[in-house]
Amino acid sequence: LSPVPSDLEISRAQTPKAVEVLAKEIGLLADEIEIYGKSKAKVRLSLLERLKDQADGKYVLVAGITPTPLGEGKSTVTVGLVQALTAHLNINSFACLRQPSQGPTFGVKGGAAGGGYAQVIPMEEFNLHLTGDIHAITAANNLLAAAIDTRILHENTQTDKKLGINKTDPNALTEEEIGKFARLNIDPSTITWQRVLDTNDRFLRKITIGQAPTEKGYSRQAQFDIAVASEIMAVLALTDSLVDMKERLGRMVVASDKNGQPVTAEDLGVTGALTVLMKDAIKPNLMQTLEGTPVFVHAGPFANIAHGNSSVLADKIALKLVGEEGFVVTEAGFGADIGMEKFFNIKCRASGLVPNAVVLVATVRALKMHGGGPGVSLLLPSSKHTFLKISLSLKTSLNEYRCKTTNVFITRTDTRAEIDLVCELAKRAGAFDAVPCYHWSIGGKGSVELARAVRDAANKGSRFRFLYDVQLPIVEKIRTIAQAVYGARDIELSPEAQSKIDRYTQQGFGNLPICMAKTHLSLSHQPDKKGVPRDFILPISDVRASIGAGFIYPLVGTMSTMPGLPTRPCFYDIDLDTETEQVKGLF
Ligand code: ADP
Repeated sequence: LSPVPSDLEISRAQTPKAVEVLAKEIGLLADEIEIYGKSKAKVRLSLLERLKDQADGKYVLVAGITPTPLGEGKSTVTVGLVQALTAHLNINSFACLRQPSQGPTFGVKGGAAGGGYAQVIPMEEFNLHLTGDIHAITAANNLLAAAIDTRILHENTQTDKKLGINKTDPNALTEEEIGKFARLNIDPSTITWQRVLDTNDRFLRKITIGQAPTEKGYSRQAQFDIAVASEIMAVLALTDSLVDMKERLGRMVVASDKNGQPVTAEDLGVTGALTVLMKDAIKPNLMQTLEGTPVFVHAGPFANIAHGNSSVLADKIALKLVGEEGFVVTEAGFGADIGMEKFFNIKCRASGLVPNAVVLVATVRALKMHGGGPGVSLLLPSSKHTFLKISLSLKTSLNEYRCKTTNVFITRTDTRAEIDLVCELAKRAGAFDAVPCYHWSIGGKGSVELARAVRDAANKGSRFRFLYDVQLPIVEKIRTIAQAVYGARDIELSPEAQSKIDRYTQQGFGNLPICMAKTHLSLSHQPDKKGVPRDFILPISDVRASIGAGFIYPLVGTMSTMPGLPTRPCFYDIDLDTETEQVKGLF
């Protein structure tokens, strides 16, 4: 249709097939799914055991160039590509997407179900509560936060007898009993565990807790993070089994004790309760595209302040379900500098999976922004120059991973001359192929050319390697990412960051991969520095440790872990038709 109707209108015009039918089509047994409503189901992990001898399909990553604040269409490409592969090239394929946070849905960016004729449906169920996984994370995260402050209060106000401490023989306590009955002596100034909420609420960025008379003397400065930045979200995204999730939850470090030793969730006796709260969230959520092809929606860490990738479990299950000849397409959040780098060095390291191809989404809109502003023509020599530089920079980072033969550049709308130019420059910069896609306006058939290019690229084989050795010192790993991926001259550590690095190294956590928290709007730390900034020094203001998730988490510049709402938030347009119960205004 022209003009293309709104995402919500398109989504609503298509009736999804019953999820039982979809599950049967993709080879799931009746007792391997747990149905939520009519079009969503959770998939049981027992499937992995049943299919353990099945060879994996091909694994494709969709990443993008540094985006505009509105997003450049990676989720839409992911959906358009699987629609093209399945419905038009007859190749089994699965899309694995992140569950969106309600922060951006009600804030500036809108939802993340794709768009136009390349969407996951029903999009309002995808974009709102889904099956409650983010709520489970919020509940688990905040139970742990409550356990920390309450433990400090009780240890200081109660007798050993009341705490259940057997003073005569502390050595008689088992590991599990230590968590419940020993004094932990937490140093409140070292608490790194924050409370979370899935709302862009800037007024919670710094708060004072414990102000009621009943907690007198125990008030302290604390903060809320957005729920998707919780370490528990990262644990969910990186775990590969219930046993592993429980171990990771127990390993999460929340503070140090007065002797400088790490205090974990296990020390607080809360691991079992956290696992109970997360027992359903660990199962991937099955949905479908507009063209009826299968999608997993599972885990949704942001790529700027977390590791930005959907779950390892969803990818692993999908790779089995599509069979050896099939394709699994997953998406890394924001630009390649953050989402793709973390996909390679954190997610692939945790999963042991290796991508067969990478699709890099480049839009004329974002390229114009990097070339000087929305009004510029890409045909101007100066803009051409910028694009070539961006392409070369991406080529360099892909080279680092030996993936250079597998990238495909695509673009959307705009003039034919501009599209042709972008494709030509992309190929000149080393892309395996560069094709325009039209899935947004006409669905899967508009991306058949991309699907063929991806199939050919994936069959070429990849010589994947990690960017850095985890055994390097923390500072060296941060410097490698800053220089090789962002193009920085060097890094500069604040005294706070340096002392945290010293503490984590001394506590034995020096050999973990790095998850940079950096703006997604520039290759540098300054959102207004577009194009390919050079010669800058990357400031590291603070460093956190996510031991359960398994990474060290440096904060670059003034990065905030709780977004705010814009002057004109999306929620102005969102409403419910109380007669039909239909949601309005989501996109
Ligand atoms: P990303 O995953 O990169 O953040 P999305 O796929 O969520 O981006 O797309 C962002 C928005 O852009 C969505 O509202 C989507 O409908 C719209 N969009 C995506 N592709 C196109 C296109 N080819 N033409 C017009 N709008 C598009």
